Amino acid sequence: MNTDKNEQKVCPICGKTYTEVPPLSRKDNTILICPDCGTREAL
Ligand SMILES: [Zn+2]
Repeated sequence: MNTDKNEQKVCPICGKTYTEVPPLSRKDNTILICPDCGTREAL
C-alpha cells in the first residue's frame, strides 16, 4: 500500500520541513504552511 500522507513538505513561511497534514493559511488559502505557523496565525 502506498500513501502520500507522510510526504515531506516545506513551510514557505519558516522554511521548516514537516510531514503532518497542514492547515491552510488564514492569510492566503492557496499556500500550505506547517502546523506551527498555522497555530501562530490562529492567535
Ligand atoms: Zn512554518
